[in-house]
Amino acid sequence: MFFLFICVQIRKVKCAKRAPGLCSKCGGQLSNSRIKRECSFCFIPLCCCSYHDILYTSCGAQIS
Ligand SMILES: [Zn+2]
Repeated sequence: MFFLFICVQIRKVKCAKRAPGLCSKCGGQLSNSRIKRECSFCFIPLCCCSYHDILYTSCGAQIS
């Protein structure tokens, strides 16, 4: 008898918006992305979704 635990974390970019401010390195536009993180347990979606706001710039730098 054994248990098989499969926990899958799925990250989805919910929305990306323009954020006020400019990148200090390249002067590019900042974007605000809302990342939705979902957890699945044995293919059953659990209610442990969390949201993270991530600021990133057009040159790829991430400001959180
Ligand atoms: Zn930049």
